[in-house]
Parts: sequence; C-alpha cells; structure tokens
Amino acid sequence: MKKHNFSAGPCILPQEVIKKSAEAVLNFNNSNLSLIEISHRSKDFVAVMDNACALALEHLNLQNKGYKALFLQGGASTQFLMAAYNLLEKKAAYLNTGTWSSKALKEAKLFGEVIEVASSKDKNFNYIPKNFNIPSDIDYFHCTSNNTIFGTQINSFPEVNAPLVCDMSSDIFSRELDFSKFDLIYAGAQKNMGPAGTTLVVVKEEILGKVSRNIPSMLDYKIHINSESMFNTPSVFAVYVSMLTLDWLKNLGGISAIEKINNKKADTIYTEIDRNPLFKGFAQKEDRSKMNATFTLVEGANQELFDGLWKAAGISGINGHRSVGGYRASMYNALPLESVQVLVEVMKEFERKS
Ligand code: PMP
Repeated sequence: MKKHNFSAGPCILPQEVIKKSAEAVLNFNNSNLSLIEISHRSKDFVAVMDNACALALEHLNLQNKGYKALFLQGGASTQFLMAAYNLLEKKAAYLNTGTWSSKALKEAKLFGEVIEVASSKDKNFNYIPKNFNIPSDIDYFHCTSNNTIFGTQINSFPEVNAPLVCDMSSDIFSRELDFSKFDLIYAGAQKNMGPAGTTLVVVKEEILGKVSRNIPSMLDYKIHINSESMFNTPSVFAVYVSMLTLDWLKNLGGISAIEKINNKKADTIYTEIDRNPLFKGFAQKEDRSKMNATFTLVEGANQELFDGLWKAAGISGINGHRSVGGYRASMYNALPLESVQVLVEVMKEFERKS
C-alpha cells in the first residue's frame, strides 16, 4: 500500500507523473532509448525544456510580460548567491523569516551591504514580521514566501520601489498571487514541481545587466537566458519530471484549482490541531503555512503512543525539523486531502486512547 507521504522535501509527487517518468527512463517517446541516455540537444529533449519553461510561465500568468523561465542546477541554495551576484551593486534589503532567509542573507553579504529589515528570530521564527521599513535606496528586496522548517507563510507582500526577489521553493504553484509583482522568483524543484536536481528561476529580463562586476558564466542569468537553459548539460530527468508535474497541474485546472484543495487540507489539519487538547500549533495563527503545518504534543502527552499510531496508519515523514521539534505535516500539491484526513483520524484516536 502507498504511504501517506508528508515528507517536507523531496516529497510526494503525483502517482501518474512517477509512472510516466519511469516509462520514459525505459523508453522515451517510443524511441527505444532512455530519456537519460540521449543528448540534451536532441529535438525531443529540447521540446521538453521548451514545454517546461512555457508551462511554468503559463501557470504564473507571466507569458509575454518580459519574463524568462530557466531550469538551472545547484538548488535554491545557489540562487541565494546568484541573485546577489546579478543584482547587488551597493545595498539590498532582506526580510529574515527563518533558516533559508538567513542563509540567503549570509550569501548576499559577500557582495555588498545588506539590511535586515526585520527578523522573527526572537521567537524561533514562529511568525512573519510586519510593519517594517524598507530603505528606498536599495538594489532589491528579498523575502521567502514560505518557511518550510517553521511552517509560516507570507500572506501580504510589501510594496517595494525596487525589484522584488522571492524564494518560493516550498509554495510555488500552490496559491494564486499576482506574480507580476515579483521580478525574480526561484524555487528548488523538490516540493511542488519535481525531483531534486533542478531549480526554476523566473526572471524579468529588464532587471539584469545593471551591476558593474564581472559575473562568471555559470552564475550569469543572461548567459542562461541566451542559451535557453542549455549553457551546460541540464538535469534532464529532473526537468522532464517537472514538465510532467506542471502538465498534471494544468489538467487539474491550474493553480486556482489546486489552491482550493490546499485550503481544504490546511483547514482540516489546523482545525484538529486547535481542537485537540493534546496538540499545539507552533506558528502564529495568522501566519500559518498551508504547505507545512508545524505542531507539538502538549507536555505530558504520550509521544510513543502517537508515533505508534501514525506509523501503523501508513503515515510517513511527519517528524519535525530538529530546530522546531515535534511534528511537521507537509501538504504539497500532490498530497491528497484523504491523507490529511487519515492523519486527523489518528490524532483523534490518540486523544481517545490517551
Ligand atoms: N529555500 C527554501 C524555502 C527551502 O525550503 C529550501 C530547501 N528545503 C531551500 C531554500 C534550499 O533548497 P536546496 O536544497 O534546493 O538548495
């Protein structure tokens, strides 16, 4: 039986995508060759890359608006430095909402002055700071839309008079936003898009070419744009699976359709966390993430009993990150509502048996 997979990333992908990917590894497009043993410059693979880029822009409603989609390597972690390398001339502003923002901030400091406009570190990142001032003389503002580890998510993005850069690794394609407010979006594939190994970058071309430093080719967005994500050998398998997932999402009705399901899933788990006297939520209610629900047992609750129950129910991957403890239920796009209902049933059973 398939597990109820709440893993934080890499994470659950749609079953039909996994099946089609497995078939393509054996025999890609009836070529009697594997997807992973053909040239990335072959007609068939170039079509995959083109389709993946087009689907990404289509989902974000950013076609014909001056944006380019790229599939790069090095994970979102490489984007922490690449964003700064390409955009930071003098000063940038960062909102610090967790481990990943802190890491992005640290990398940017290698390239210029970095202002931390606000931080939620004082409460172990269990909330999203609000009402902070952003200096006007900045090259860009950077934030993290969803904090995978702490389970918080930005609902309202600040208005900025500078390029808006956002790490959307753990909530891209999960909710409707006006994506045209953003000038650079990046996301490691391994949550809502595909396997680890590729990173989606969506960049508004007009923000590039404004820094005076020389940029090494592999870190230069313009070079990757000019070579259509084929400056070097792309991660062919990860891009192919991403294309299939983006296509799956399109057939489902796109972001607006999946957002409704994601809202239901989040509502289901948070209602139980708030109702059940044996659990408490970690993140402040108004900033709760719809992708990663973080919660702990109340003092004195029988952890061994709870762990035994969820494991017996076929649930996998709900142990919390070491910096928060407790539990984290990650509910990415491909996780069915039914899995969340099974978890909630287990939480109720735990209450009955305690
Ligand atoms: N940003 C966020 C929000 C993440 O959740 C992660 C990984 N979980 C990263 C960045 C780092 O991504 P990668 O491992 O692809 O470098």
